[in-house]
Amino acid sequence: QARRLNLTQAVFDKDMYGNPAANLSLMSEMMRATEKGEMSLYYQPKLKVRTGRYESVEALSRWFHPDRGFISPDQFIPQAEETGHIRPFTEWVIRQSIEDQKRLLAEGKPIAVAINISGALVGDPEFARKARSMIVGASGPITLEITETAVMTNPEKAIEHLNAWRESGARISIDDYGTGQSSLAYLQMIPSDELKLDRQFVSNLNANARGRMLIKSTIDLAHNLGLEVVAEGVETETDLAALKLLGSDWIQGYHLSRPLPISELAEFLAVPEET
Ligand code: C2E
Ligand code: CA
Ligand code: CA
Ligand code: CA
Repeated sequence: QARRLNLTQAVFDKDMYGNPAANLSLMSEMMRATEKGEMSLYYQPKLKVRTGRYESVEALSRWFHPDRGFISPDQFIPQAEETGHIRPFTEWVIRQSIEDQKRLLAEGKPIAVAINISGALVGDPEFARKARSMIVGASGPITLEITETAVMTNPEKAIEHLNAWRESGARISIDDYGTGQSSLAYLQMIPSDELKLDRQFVSNLNANARGRMLIKSTIDLAHNLGLEVVAEGVETETDLAALKLLGSDWIQGYHLSRPLPISELAEFLAVPEET
């Protein structure tokens, strides 16, 4: 018990970042965590504006460590990316969410599932193949959320895999749009179906008229490129109304629902939708 605690502390000590030994222990911690059920997926509902129904959810990883308590994905995902452990972990995420999707369908609650795919994995041929075979077996629509930077390291391979996933029936969403070095060039280059406006970008709504115009222009641009738009991080009724008016196809955020464990999601989906 004491030894395990030490290992975990070492892993999350900022000074140890990049230390190969610490990274190795994170790998074994994460392996253990998935096997022991400390890892779980929460699902955040997304409202489809046109139908007024919750037709999709985003799977978000949660780590409840017995000693450390809750560990945020913002902490463990970047380290998993460094160590390469992100591959088996993401395969677990895909398998688990496809299983949950099937269970919900059996309960009469068909739902699309969106899964976050780390940039580093998009160009990985072995992951691409495995992901593809799992997508083909899904009982409902699957969306893969990727960031633009995913395509930077190895554009040819990345684009090849994105196309292959689309052929298998998955939708591709460009996540975190409006942060970092979002560039129009990528929009043209990345095979995609959806643009996901980052919470930070959405907050321009409340800046001034220019901020709103920026969002409106981006939504129009996305539509002209044949992409659907998701606005994330919507926290108020005012923003919800504004985004509907500006033409966002999907709305996601705490104002509608926080990410929920599967049991609560099932309950949430049983309640009549908002109008
Ligand atoms: P993301 O993909 O941009 O996910 C959105 C984050 O915003 C989530 O944080 C979500 O809980 C949070 N959020 C949703 N609505 C609101 C809102 O109205 N207000 C605020 N303040 N926050 C909101 P979370 O779950 O902590 O995840 C953080 C990031 O970790 C994600 O950002 C994603 O990049 C990454 N992540 C989470 N799970 C996975 C995973 O299974 N695989 C990979 N590769 N990355 C993951
Ligand atoms: Ca996401
Ligand atoms: Ca985001
Ligand atoms: Ca993100």
